[in-house]
Amino acid sequence: MSEQSTAAIPASATDSNCVKQYHRTSRILSVASYAVDLMVMLLLLFAGWSAVLRTLALHYSLRPWLALLIYLLLFGSITQAAGLPFSFLEGFWLEHRYGLSNLTLGGWVKEQLKGLAVGAALGLMAMEFLYASIRRWPEHWWLVCVAAFMAFFVLMANLAPVLIMPLFFKFKPLDNADLTERLLELSRRAHTRVKGVFEWKLSEKSKKANAALMGLGNTRRIILSDTLLSGFNNDEIEAVLAHELGHHVHRHIFQLIAIQGGALFAGLYLIHRTLDVLTPHFGFHGAADFANLPLLALVTTILSLALLPAVNSYSRALERQADTYALNAIASRGPFITSMEKLAELNLAERQPHPWIEFIFHSHPSIQKRIGFAQKFSA
Ligand SMILES: [Zn+2]
Repeated sequence: MSEQSTAAIPASATDSNCVKQYHRTSRILSVASYAVDLMVMLLLLFAGWSAVLRTLALHYSLRPWLALLIYLLLFGSITQAAGLPFSFLEGFWLEHRYGLSNLTLGGWVKEQLKGLAVGAALGLMAMEFLYASIRRWPEHWWLVCVAAFMAFFVLMANLAPVLIMPLFFKFKPLDNADLTERLLELSRRAHTRVKGVFEWKLSEKSKKANAALMGLGNTRRIILSDTLLSGFNNDEIEAVLAHELGHHVHRHIFQLIAIQGGALFAGLYLIHRTLDVLTPHFGFHGAADFANLPLLALVTTILSLALLPAVNSYSRALERQADTYALNAIASRGPFITSMEKLAELNLAERQPHPWIEFIFHSHPSIQKRIGFAQKFSA
């Protein structure tokens, strides 16, 4: 919901070749990375590699959880190795080529290792829970997992600002009393309780600017990247934050959690049915046989790709609602428009993507549209 991919220049401006190329390369890399992931899953499944890994894991331990752990480490090593060239090209090479990153190669590797450690810990826990549920409740495991994973998402939304984000970024209370008071006042008017306003040291890694209202309940806070603080005036920062508060006022986080719950419900039910039908064809020893993991991954990937345009269309509607709130909450639309222009410039945002590209891939309306909306807006 934050402004990773925001904004623009006057409504008549078009994207430079550099911006177009950056986004085209980025899309090619993500599509190629998706394709490689799919191919690896198909090979693991149809070439019988997954069954070989499972047999190997069971050779070392017959305890289900330990055998699964060994299998997951092998499975994870293969998928990570296959994905590594794309992580490097997308995360390091492309960002440097377009002057968007401040990370050294060593710094990037360190970031990747930290991300891998956090991702592996969460992934291992989730998979152990999933297969333990299949073993214990063969018919209703998917319902148990929907409930458990949803509870976990909400818990993570609450804990992320205090537990996860500090692993990757430094934060300190904002050292600007005027701006802090202004943003707290804006939050009060939006009936949003926040824990404070924090400066987010993004410049150690990136040249991009960003702001967000993050956390849930007692951990909710305003975070402003130092790159935003150094390049934007107070009116513009207020406009950016007013948009974030718009998400809160309209309870978008709960809508998104509900949608995630619906998608999880559909996805796990689909996996349950697929396993029922396909288990005999692949020679799995029942649904709890973890050699079926690539099949689970394939169903998940296909479903998330199929849902992508709908999810993004919905997200763009929420973004428009947040923009409307922001334009009503601030004194004039000028700073909203200039903040968009600056964000577009800094983040190399695509101002006018092809309508199909926007429809499928963009979670935010194009900058051109957002500025056009603000220009026509009358409170
Ligand atoms: Zn937003």
